[in-house]
Amino acid sequence: MHPQTDHATHLPSTADIAVVGAGAAGLFAAIWAGRTAGPTCRVVAVDGARKLGAKILVAGGGRCNVTHHTVIEHDFAGSSPPAIRKVLRRFPVDETVRFFATAGVDLKQEETGKLFPVTDSARTVLNALMTEATTAGVQCVHPARVTAIEALPADAAAGDSSEAFRFRVVTDGGSCLARRVVLCTGGKSLPKSGSDGVGHALARALGHSITTPVVPALVPLLLAGDHWIKQLSGLTLPARLILTTVSGKRLVTTTGSTLCTHQGLSGPAVLDISRHWLVARQAEPGVRLLINWLPEETPESVDQLLQTATRGPLAVLRQRLPERLARQLCEQAGTTGAGDLSRAVRKTLGQLVTATPLPVTGDRGFAVAEATAGGVPLTEVNLKTMESRICPGLYFAGEVLDVDGRIGGFNFQWAWSSGFVAGTAAAQDRG
Ligand SMILES: Cc1cc2nc3c(=O)[nH]c(=O)nc-3n(C[C@H](O)[C@H](O)[C@H](O)COP(=O)(O)OP(=O)(O)OC[C@H]3O[C@@H](n4cnc5c(N)ncnc54)[C@H](O)[C@@H]3O)c2cc1C
Repeated sequence: MHPQTDHATHLPSTADIAVVGAGAAGLFAAIWAGRTAGPTCRVVAVDGARKLGAKILVAGGGRCNVTHHTVIEHDFAGSSPPAIRKVLRRFPVDETVRFFATAGVDLKQEETGKLFPVTDSARTVLNALMTEATTAGVQCVHPARVTAIEALPADAAAGDSSEAFRFRVVTDGGSCLARRVVLCTGGKSLPKSGSDGVGHALARALGHSITTPVVPALVPLLLAGDHWIKQLSGLTLPARLILTTVSGKRLVTTTGSTLCTHQGLSGPAVLDISRHWLVARQAEPGVRLLINWLPEETPESVDQLLQTATRGPLAVLRQRLPERLARQLCEQAGTTGAGDLSRAVRKTLGQLVTATPLPVTGDRGFAVAEATAGGVPLTEVNLKTMESRICPGLYFAGEVLDVDGRIGGFNFQWAWSSGFVAGTAAAQDRG
């Protein structure tokens, strides 16, 4: 059952605060704006989607990984860690847990540190947000796609109070004068949900820059041609991904579950490193991605292991790795896996086990990416309020900003924290 919500398809002609985009960040910003300002302040959340909360509903496989046991700035990439920390600490994980508990959604922590609703249903999270928005006096208007946000001259009509309307929010179904705007349009991931990057254009039109490149984050990677890893499709195992410069300097490593697919690689360790590979190769096309199939081993330790193998390398490797992978590694090193190995083949095998080069040709794109790397840089935002340093009265929250988290509830935590700061500050702003 949907909770009772104040929905409309027509925009009011004026609003004190117009929240553009009613996803996780937008709903949160609207709730806190409404709670902070009280009933005299008209908060309108405008969204282009026919059904609100598409991403919340699909998140975490339909269970919605709301946050993580511990969230720190180093769980994110994009803007600088100190800048991200400033926002996170204003609304940390315990506040998220308290907010949802008060809204009737108890969260449970899983072994991985991820927090999910005890119902295991994302719907309870969305319903709670919608109910809280209504209670806070927020009017949700949808589907109404914002096509332009015009900054009005300072002396524009003051309306029914002394504070001027600074913006005209133009949608495909009419326009609305707003005193303040909170831009929460998300990034470019899962465009069918309504987040197709138009928010970047809206921010640009108001004087902001968008970082380059903007690339998918948390996205499966594609491997060249008929690479042997594709033949292992369906295999999941813990592994380490290593991103290096051409000269071999380590840039980033991620460790965790890794899935071989018929197109390449997926799973948390791959998703986590994907944005780093995509960004790094733009700066330096020769960057390399390697995979260590036995994360706790080095080429030297594997070499030692193989030297002591009396029944051939395959027998040793299949004790530690899935049979299909062990066979492939032997084959790629040029051995059947039985009998003695020459020193050269043994070295090659040790190298393959701990650092198979991955000829990545690309990624599966924004259509399947869970997040977006790139957006409005935090340097253009006052981090105490999330107000634009360029366009007074404009605020930002969520994935439209240049912040993306690793797998595990971090992206939603960013939406909650930045949404809280933007919503409360927008409500306190009196022009
Ligand atoms: C499949 C999938 C699973 C995920 N699972 C998790 C998870 O379990 N945990 C986690 O932490 N993160 C997860 N994420 C990431 C997380 O969903 C996002 O980081 C988060 O939703 C971002 O919130 P947001 O409000 O900034 O943007 P969005 O959720 O993208 O919301 C933006 C809203 O703005 C609206 N909009 C856009 N442009 C306009 C416009 N011009 N006019 C009007 N409205 C507009 C859109 O319709 C949308 O409703 C997942 C993402 C995907 C794709």
